[in-house]
This record gives sequence, C-alpha cells and structure tokens, in this order.
Amino acid sequence: MENKNKIGEQVELFGWVDNRRDHGKIIFIDLRDRSGLAQVVFTPNNEENYEIANKLRQEWVVRIVGVVKKRPEKMVNPDIATGKIEIEPSEIEILNESDTMPFPIDNDGYEIDEEVRLKYRFVDLRRERLQKNIKLRSEFVDKIRQFLFKNSFLEIETPILSAPTPEGSRDFVVPSRLNPGKFFALPQSPQQYKQLLMIAGFEKYFQIAKCFRDEDLRADRGFEHTQVDLEMSFVKQEDVMALDEAMMSEVVEAMGYKIKQKPFPVFTHQEAMEKFGNDKFDLRTEDDKNGNVLAYAWVKDFPFFEEIKGAKKWTFTHNPFSMAKLEHIEWLLAGKNIDKILTTQYDLVCNGVEVGGGSIRAHKSEVLKAVFKIIGYEDSGVERDFGHMLTALKLGAPPHGGIAHGVERNLMTLLGEEYLREVQAFPQTSSGRTSVMNAPSDLSEEQLKELHLAVKESERE
Ligand code: ASP
Repeated sequence: MENKNKIGEQVELFGWVDNRRDHGKIIFIDLRDRSGLAQVVFTPNNEENYEIANKLRQEWVVRIVGVVKKRPEKMVNPDIATGKIEIEPSEIEILNESDTMPFPIDNDGYEIDEEVRLKYRFVDLRRERLQKNIKLRSEFVDKIRQFLFKNSFLEIETPILSAPTPEGSRDFVVPSRLNPGKFFALPQSPQQYKQLLMIAGFEKYFQIAKCFRDEDLRADRGFEHTQVDLEMSFVKQEDVMALDEAMMSEVVEAMGYKIKQKPFPVFTHQEAMEKFGNDKFDLRTEDDKNGNVLAYAWVKDFPFFEEIKGAKKWTFTHNPFSMAKLEHIEWLLAGKNIDKILTTQYDLVCNGVEVGGGSIRAHKSEVLKAVFKIIGYEDSGVERDFGHMLTALKLGAPPHGGIAHGVERNLMTLLGEEYLREVQAFPQTSSGRTSVMNAPSDLSEEQLKELHLAVKESERE
C-alpha cells in the first residue's frame, strides 16, 4: 500500500477484506490489495458506513474512499509497512460478496491438501507467500529480458504444435483433424527451432519458452515448465558461459542475493564426480545457507554418451545436437572410443540444483549424423526424423551454441521452495491433473470422430 506517505490526503482504495475486527463502537477492516494491507476505521459517527462495515465478511471486495491519518502512538503496528497509518473512510462500496473460503489463506498453506489447494488455486494464490513467489518470478523474467535486450538479443517465438524432438523424455501429442492418423508433438524445448533461427541469420535469440515433457512427476518436475532459452552464433563455449554468467549475476544481484564466488568456479565432470560424488553439488557452508547466498558453479566436459544398462546400446547424456569436444570429433565421426568422447555441454549448478545447461552445437551435418548413428538410428531414420536439420546444416549454418535455464528451478533455488507448484501460478497436481479445470477429460463422440480417434472400451471409465 503506497498510502503511508500520503498523510492528510484523500485516497481511493480497491481490495479485499483481509480481516474484520469488531470492537463494539469501532470496527477495524484490514483492506488488502496486491501491495499490502491498510487499516480502515469505522465508527458510528458515520452511521451508513458503519452499517455496511458491520456486514462485511472475509474476502468481500470493496471500494473505499477516505483520508489517510496517522495512527495514535499506541495503535502503531511495526510489523506491517502501513502500520503507522489508518484510513478514515468517507465512502464504502461493496463490489462483491464472497462465500466462505475453502481453506485458510492467512498462513503459508503448506499443510493444506494439494488437490484442494489446486482446485481453488485462484484463492490459494491470494496467500502472502504465493503472491511473493509469483511476483518474484515476474521480476526474475523481467530482469532476464532487460539484460538480453541490452545485449542485442531478439525475442522470437517458436511453435507449440510441432514435431517430436528428442530431449530424453516422452512427448505430449496432439491429433490432427486435417491429417487423419497423424499427430503433432508439443516441444520438449525449442532446441531445433532456435538452431534454425541461427541458420536463418538472427545471431542472438532468446525466448521465455514453454516446454512440455510427459515424464513421471516429481517435486521439481511438472508436465510443463518454462525455460529462459537462448542461442548465439559465432561463439565458443567460453563466450556462452561468460554471457550467461553475466546475465545470472546481474539478475540475482539486482534481486538482492549475494553470489558466493565470481567468476563462477568451473569443474570438469570428472573433477566434480571425484570431489563431490555428483555433478549437482552444493558449495555453500552452513553460514551461507542462513544468508541469501547463491553458490554457482559450472560443470563441463561431460561424456557425450552413456550405455543403456543391459541393452548394449548408447544414448546421449544431455543433448544429441551438441558438438563433441574438438579433440574427439574424429572419434565421433568414426564411431570409436564412444565412452571417451566428451561433449561441449556446460551445466550451471546452484546450491545443489542444476539450474541451466547448454552446449555448442554440431553445425555440420556429418557430425549430427554421426551422433544419431551412435545412438542407433539407421540413415533412413535420421533422414525421416531430422532430415530438415541435416538439410539446414548444409545451407550455410554458422557455428552456434546456447543455453537454457529452467525458470521454476531457478525460482525454487532463489526462494528455497521444495516444490515446483510453489512457483507456478497454475501447476499440475502430482497425479498429473490441471489446477482448477478438469483436465485431462473425455472427448465427445463427435470430437473423437472429427479427430479420427477411437478410445478402447476398456479404457473408458
Ligand atoms: N534444449 C536444451 C534443454 O532443454 C538446452 C540447451 O541445450 O540449450 O535442456
């Protein structure tokens, strides 16, 4: 509430009744809007307003016109920003009444059943903690945008209805009405499109991109997440890492956090495994953990491939579109020493969480082809699924690379939240259903017919 500096002035306030305290001759209303609370004092001196105040209940929506007054000394509340003032109302208008809230919203809400919280997410979000989280998310994205625009990046959107792209997860698919029996896939990331934008000559791209992955849900994983996704042409590994480091430092420092060590320490994957036993380590001391300290570190030189257990087959550890380290390209092209080939992948770790990752890409078609061959694609399969990339790489593709940051992972780290749902406005439940609305749900016979789909009788509820 910006009224604390307006003593003596008349103000018009819109908001919710956070609390009503009836002291007989005097009724206090705490009026809440997105900026905070203001105490409004009703006395029988103004009978009409007093009558209305008497009717008010929690979460009713009101408009109040009144004068900002200094509170008497003994009424000052040092715990809230507007604790020194109160509003003496001349007008009050009820804009809407409210049923009783389905659960308390004046606490942090962790103990309330998730299904219930998400069913009524629009009121769950009114709680102070979630208001703060969602505002911080907006601030984070805003500062990222400012940094990237200042550094000559273009914000470019890429399609949601698309073809499958391998990021190591299952795709969500959408049936096509106009192409019977054919399906779109929702993007697991804009990986291929952002590379195509480099080939298209834009040189510096970014997007706050929605990504869809049909994977088993965990605390830090939902079906949908958002990435700060960027890509640059004519860069080496160090260039992307430096740009990204400057971005993250500027953004989080502007948000009031301290960074433990700059430049961020860099570990090879092997060093990290030897030193910490994992590649998502936490460099904070106990003291750091009590302050707003973020311990960033880079991990690089990951193995490009790993064996699928028991299958005598290889898969990529991070991103099939990456370039191998220069000294290992010969091995990659020859399909030799596969376990020793290192990739140009770099991951950003913060406080024990992987908060970003990217690589320099294969910008020559034979390199990309060799990757797919190692992971078991026949030539015809590569042509079928990635022919467009091979073609594009042969039409003047510049060397390029990039990185992506999970917005939710970053926010969870900044806020110390354990669950993804605490930093998304409308997350899925842990059983994979939407907040508020009823999805996934049935299609009508008519819709199924239009989409050329049939649902097995045994699958129906
Ligand atoms: N597309 C990658 C991912 O989603 C990130 C990148 O390499 O830029 O993990």
